[in-house]
Amino acid sequence: MNTFHSLLPVDNDGYYGHFGGAYIPEILHSNIENLKEAFYRYAGDEEFNRELDRLLRDYVGRPSPLYRADRLSDLYGTNIYLKREDLNHTGAHKINNALASVLLAKRMGKNRIIAETGAGQHGVATATACALMGMECIVFMGATDVARQKPNVDRMRMLGATVEAVESGNKTLKDATNEAIRYWCCNPESFYVIGSTVGPHPYPEMVAYFQSVISREIRSQLLAQTGSELPDYVIACIGGGSNAAGAFYHFINEPSVRLIAAEAAGLGIDTDKTAATMKIGTEGIIHGSRTMVMQTDDGQIIEPYSISAGLDYPGVGPLHSYLASTGRSEVLAITDSQALEAAMRLTRTEGIIPALESAHALGVLDVKKFRADDTVVLNLSGRGDKDMETYIRELVDKA
Ligand SMILES: *Cc1c(COP(=O)(O)O)cnc(C)c1O
Repeated sequence: MNTFHSLLPVDNDGYYGHFGGAYIPEILHSNIENLKEAFYRYAGDEEFNRELDRLLRDYVGRPSPLYRADRLSDLYGTNIYLKREDLNHTGAHKINNALASVLLAKRMGKNRIIAETGAGQHGVATATACALMGMECIVFMGATDVARQKPNVDRMRMLGATVEAVESGNKTLKDATNEAIRYWCCNPESFYVIGSTVGPHPYPEMVAYFQSVISREIRSQLLAQTGSELPDYVIACIGGGSNAAGAFYHFINEPSVRLIAAEAAGLGIDTDKTAATMKIGTEGIIHGSRTMVMQTDDGQIIEPYSISAGLDYPGVGPLHSYLASTGRSEVLAITDSQALEAAMRLTRTEGIIPALESAHALGVLDVKKFRADDTVVLNLSGRGDKDMETYIRELVDKA
């Protein structure tokens, strides 16, 4: 019996309201159909889920703790719980999706994985999962990114992945994605692992489901610690939206739980150096789905900017465009300097150095007032090791 049941407001064609869908060239049609069929089959398969749960527990280190941050709570006069995705193997939530996707590929009989990466975090998570499961791994990465993200390129190579430096366009994420799609067209026997809740259906639904372990754990951990499964707020940062989708998943149909998404405002949403897609974007199609996009009037993508490489994306997953458009989620844009300040505050009150992406979620604590009896869960999507150079330059040396 297939037990898969999506909790997302998504229809059979992958639409969340009028966002989503699958805008793909005809040549990718059968790849996507095969993926869809396999995903729905295995997501409801007991043996698949048992194996995935075992890996998440024994390899990733799940459940990640839900930690009541006492000093931070005192500082803000409320009750703040940090979901510690930063403690996962490889240092962020991305491994949840990478492992599940590569396991699905294995069940489908694939032996080659392809992925695109910008800053290299998704590439590293995918290369890790491939090393674990003995899969060939090709990671497409813009040549500019290859040059400026050397530690992650080194990690991927050590893990056995081939890093393909893409020389077209701006030589960044968008070009790497185009190249990965081109490769997938000609090599349908490979499996394409997308790193966020973006891309054509079923990717947004699939990645959200693979990350939903985050909110599944939050519910039972909150119940054990507070006597109630439901917080008043869940806060997460949004690049493409995968850690937020995972943190929101089991609360989307609980109207008493307020969902807050923190976008990267960069230097400010009124400047041209921003990545706040839902604040300044308009509807369009990017990477195979209809969603909010940072674009000019004639549909040219506007280069996004954020101090945080993981939030530096000109689109956003269709689920989030939908949640924001219906008022189910509240979107706040947090600037570089607000995020930096929030990172320092967490570091000095709790001894936790967050990823710059996660620091945008923390920035919400400074712009939104919470009540003394509120329970606020904040998804700490990753750790700050990869951002030390920025922190030292922007915070420690300037202090
Ligand atoms: C990649 C990344 C993000 C942004 O991606 P989402 O898909 O929006 O979650 C956020 N936090 C960390 C630590 C990341 O590595």
